[in-house]
Amino acid sequence: MNQAERAGLTQRQLDSYWMPYTGNREFKSDPRIITAASGNYLTDADGRQILDSLSGLWTCGAGHSRPEIAEAVFKQLNKLDYAPGFQFGHPLAFQLSERICDLAPEGLNRVCLTNSGSEAADTATKIARAYWRQSGQASKTKILARQKGYHGASWGGISFGGIPANRKLWGQGLETDLLNHTWRSESVFSKGMPEHGAELADELESLIALHDASNIAAVIVEPFSGSAGVIVPPKGYLQRLREICTKHNILLIFDEVITGLGRSGAYWGAEAFGVTPDIITFAKQITNGAVPLGGVLLGEEIYDAFMTKGGAPHSVELPHGFTYSGHPVACAAAMATLDILESEQLIERVADKAPEFESKIHSLRGINHIVDIRNFGFAAGITLAAKAGDPTLRPYEVALECWRRGVYVRWGGDTLQFGLPFKIESDEMDRIVSTVAESIEALDPA
Ligand code: PLP
Repeated sequence: MNQAERAGLTQRQLDSYWMPYTGNREFKSDPRIITAASGNYLTDADGRQILDSLSGLWTCGAGHSRPEIAEAVFKQLNKLDYAPGFQFGHPLAFQLSERICDLAPEGLNRVCLTNSGSEAADTATKIARAYWRQSGQASKTKILARQKGYHGASWGGISFGGIPANRKLWGQGLETDLLNHTWRSESVFSKGMPEHGAELADELESLIALHDASNIAAVIVEPFSGSAGVIVPPKGYLQRLREICTKHNILLIFDEVITGLGRSGAYWGAEAFGVTPDIITFAKQITNGAVPLGGVLLGEEIYDAFMTKGGAPHSVELPHGFTYSGHPVACAAAMATLDILESEQLIERVADKAPEFESKIHSLRGINHIVDIRNFGFAAGITLAAKAGDPTLRPYEVALECWRRGVYVRWGGDTLQFGLPFKIESDEMDRIVSTVAESIEALDPA
């Protein structure tokens, strides 16, 4: 009997669902079924308690199944399940937007709400292009981004995303170009931000020379690349990107879907890295993963460009939005999440405990097959040496061994990835680290 059968699933049910970003053949041959979750633990179909080292998918930092969020969602469903978001409003969408603006870096004081990080990236880049058009510079349409970047699975995200496996199936997308990523062999095992490599940002000057600033709307980067395995920018790199964007009149967008709302040890990666972009995208942690919600933060200069040139007073200034933009239930979950982050001082906790995590995750240096470890805040990535000529094989095998040993670890490309729950205890950090070491050792003894 496999876990699907133990969870009461039939083969037909298993076959019916084409799972996202999943090796469906492998999964369905040995399903891993999660039936419940609470705090820092998932429960699988065998009733095992599995320590969650990725907070879901970087989503549930405040711990799983928080009753405060469940209650807020339940209350909201009973009061106002849905309100049309086009041409009508409901109080929570405005209250939540104000609250996010209050937390935002200075100058970012307008919010669009979406349902996901992918929609947030699309929305941000559409606004960037439309902003230049509104400002009389309609040729500024290209979006520059970075190799190994991840900005979601929609046409925008796969066009300016830089993870090859996510891109190569789809053919031609939007007009984009990519900066080099910031991973450098000289900087392996850096703790936090690598000392050297800020000059990598100067490559943006070359791309601008190639495409011309008159054709470029925006540069979008994650403050640190999350899905590529936590690639942390070298000291001074983001500052340099900021300077070059300002110099050439190009909008800088930080995709903070992973780095925002606590994971960096601050509300925003922008704050943690000391660089303010023109636009920020967020999602995941905003509702603690409980209900889909994302969004875009920007300044009034961009907003006003639409308001002052929006045509007749009743006309729609930005013909963009989703049926579920600002969904009342998602807004209620977000308000409850922000309450928890604040009242339990979870972001301060991440900042306090990040050095402990740094030293623990780096204690794996020297374990066979580990060729790099990177960390920032409550995020870390480990690169494993290729096995049998396939860089993706060992991470998959090691992560599954960790799962068998009771720790959920994410694998992606040649990396293992960690996004700790904000309330993790020291002994749980130890357990994650020792399980990774033991799993590697068990599979491929030195
Ligand atoms: N941007 C970044 C940086 C992400 O990490 C992700 C998802 O992992 C996305 C965008 C896409 O978010 P979603 O999967 O909610 O569409």
